[in-house]
Amino acid sequence: MTETHYQYIDGVWTDGDSTDEITVRDPAAPEDPIVAFSGASETQAEEAVSAAAAASDNWAATTPDDRDTILYEVAERIDANRDALAETLTREEGKPISSGRGEVSRAAEIFRFFASYARSATGETIPSSDPETLTYTVREPLGVVTLITPWNFPIATPSWKLATALATGNTVVLKPSSETPMIAKQLVELLAEVGVPNGVVNLVVGSGSTVGDALTTDERVDGVSFTGSTETGQHIAETVATRGIPIQTEMGGKNPQVVLPDADLEAAADAAISGAFGGCGQACTATSRLIVHEDVADELTAAVVERAEALSIGPGLDDPDIGPAVSAGENETNLEYIEVAEKEGATLQTGGGQPATPEAGYFVEPTVFTDVEPGMRIAQEEVFGPVLGVIEVADFDEAVRVANDVNYGLSASIFTTNMAKSRSFTKQIEAGVVKINGTTTGSHVQMPFGGMKASSSETQKELGQHAYEFYTHEKAIYRSDP
Ligand code: NAP
Repeated sequence: MTETHYQYIDGVWTDGDSTDEITVRDPAAPEDPIVAFSGASETQAEEAVSAAAAASDNWAATTPDDRDTILYEVAERIDANRDALAETLTREEGKPISSGRGEVSRAAEIFRFFASYARSATGETIPSSDPETLTYTVREPLGVVTLITPWNFPIATPSWKLATALATGNTVVLKPSSETPMIAKQLVELLAEVGVPNGVVNLVVGSGSTVGDALTTDERVDGVSFTGSTETGQHIAETVATRGIPIQTEMGGKNPQVVLPDADLEAAADAAISGAFGGCGQACTATSRLIVHEDVADELTAAVVERAEALSIGPGLDDPDIGPAVSAGENETNLEYIEVAEKEGATLQTGGGQPATPEAGYFVEPTVFTDVEPGMRIAQEEVFGPVLGVIEVADFDEAVRVANDVNYGLSASIFTTNMAKSRSFTKQIEAGVVKINGTTTGSHVQMPFGGMKASSSETQKELGQHAYEFYTHEKAIYRSDP
């Protein structure tokens, strides 16, 4: 296998044969590409679907024990290769190496958790209205599923989709982000090494605009699971809609952290920093709006600014607090939003540009704005960078109203010691993930994950005890024996 063999179709590693060039750069040192190669063509995408379709019956017929064993072994290999995988991830995505290692360990945890789905993703026996009839449900694999993933968690997100799909007996075509194909390739290599049969997992590395429609609208594709921007997710949902197959789209966020006057302000400041600036703000669940009661707004803002200014910025391999944005495009967008916020009248408290050092790389300072009004673009649109807007409110009701006054609804948190207020918040807030006295970021593998409103198709959740529901048909059986 040569370095440019990024397509894995029916068990064979090969070059892409389109005219698209996929160029992978270290965002901390982008001058020289790490690797450049041809992306997959539409024909190769179709071949990957063909391979997955041909392998489908045999994989569905494997025993749960075999699938559990294989996926558990994947987890072991991920753990055994943790440092090498983390280095690849950090080199192409930019996040601090300790976060990279954490994400790789999480991928192993995910495979271990979902391996057991092979044995446990089951139907149920339901009391029958007819004593002569046994009524129960069974879960069966969809068949071929297309998995499309973004760059910001480039091993965790493919892992939770792959592990769930494979455990439940589906075959797969994985299309990772063109920004982060190296880690996707290494993950698929591990799957091949542990004996996943040819055709069961196929990797198509190609531009979404070239291969996307072929991977989602092909009539042999039985389900599509997508994570990425709302714009792309809505495009896919529209193109797939007429086929009536299961589709799951998990998309952007504009996540609020509400802070009431009775809150532990030190803890609230720590959470805002971690939520807004961890991973350079490149998490779908990143905190981008700090909605603060006016009585504590100055004190909390001062604590947040002090912490933001203490954060170290640098190449991910040096393990700073904040690494670079993933690409030149993302960095430009961050800087543009900072300009827009200033033009709209927000007050820059700290950050606001590229740091003096490092000189190279897509770095932007952790940035905090105050005097942010709910209608401003900085308060409405997903920035996907280290930019936090502080919005002052007069009371709890206004805080909830402002928090809900966006198109998105992914995650939200509240800091308060008032139990009635926190309970009321969980009821009123329009978000799929709600934290009381915690950051908007982070989730447990056994908890369901997904958003509301423009953040999600709200079909079935990912992760959690019931993530298998998306990847399976449920049949209701009425059995009356002769
Ligand atoms: P993106 O631009 O939407 O890309 C996501 C994936 O879709 C990539 O693999 C991309 O391929 C592919 N794609 C692009 N156009 C396509 C098309 N026409 N048909 C099919 N696939 C297509 O998103 P991103 O910039 O990678 O990721 C950042 C976004 O993801 C943010 O909005 C973030 O909030 C969201 N996100 C959401 C969650 C969640 O669980 N809710 C988690 C993580 C990230 P190319 O790379 O080749 O363009």
